[in-house]
Amino acid sequence: MRADLHSHSLASDGSLTPTELVARAVEKNVEMFALTDHDTVDGIEEASDAAQHLPITFIPGIEISVTWEKRTLHIVGLNINPKSKDLLQGVSQLAKQREFRSEKILHKLKKLGFDDVVDHALKDMQLSKLTRTHFARSLVECEKVDNMGDAFSRYLGHGKKAYVRGEWASLNDACGWIKSSGGIAVIAHPHSYKMTRSWTRRMLKDFVAAGGEAIEVVCGSSTDDRVRHWSRQAKDFNLSASMGSDFHSPKNRWVELGRLKKMPYNCTPVWELWDKTAELS
Ligand code: AMP
Ligand code: MN
Ligand code: MN
Ligand code: MN
Repeated sequence: MRADLHSHSLASDGSLTPTELVARAVEKNVEMFALTDHDTVDGIEEASDAAQHLPITFIPGIEISVTWEKRTLHIVGLNINPKSKDLLQGVSQLAKQREFRSEKILHKLKKLGFDDVVDHALKDMQLSKLTRTHFARSLVECEKVDNMGDAFSRYLGHGKKAYVRGEWASLNDACGWIKSSGGIAVIAHPHSYKMTRSWTRRMLKDFVAAGGEAIEVVCGSSTDDRVRHWSRQAKDFNLSASMGSDFHSPKNRWVELGRLKKMPYNCTPVWELWDKTAELS
């Protein structure tokens, strides 16, 4: 199965419309594709419509921001019902949190004398939808930094001049919202949290206790060693395995839709979980 179950559109911090994204996934020979925008389901209807007459299976998804032990984790929800009341309530809670944080980031940017960056960031995005990617793009476009990487390493990264910690959903809430919408909760890009072995085990234990069922064993930037490592963790914690590029924009040449290592044979692919649900119903 050529699956890519992690991607972003203009509904969050991606740079393609949901329609363009689906078309690109088809072009890249992806057979099963999920849109997983940050804390929103706004792009799903358009993506689902676009996929209707194309040779691709569309899976509705989301990527929920979580605060766990003072760290930020990303929990992907796959095969969700985007109309679920619980999920939508959670999403509106997160929008408020994003709005608070955006105000604080804008205040810091103003104090740095970056009024043009503030105006740029507010030009076509609501406060409740602004991600650090948007702020980073504004810093680049207003020529305060040369590239996105510098925007994070100088201003937006943890502890930098314009950094504000997000106060996101609890792990229990995020997994609960996903499950109650019929979806599967997946730990996104597990390597990115840079945790020690024992912290990783704590995270996975709490995730399973919260109802989490899968982990991204294959990511856009995975090496063979990394895939092996996370497939072992999946086995140890009895988790299914997902794969996703986390594609945001064609401008990032390092990440492409469908450009992923193979799913290891010893893993249970996450799509078998929703195949099972379909058989039962
Ligand atoms: P937020 O949820 O608003 O804190 O934004 C997080 C997003 O910022 C992530 O989903 C990435 O798309 C992006 N991001 C985080 N760190 C970096 C980085 N070093 N370079 C480029 N993008 C980044
Ligand atoms: Mn992002
Ligand atoms: Mn993420
Ligand atoms: Mn993502």
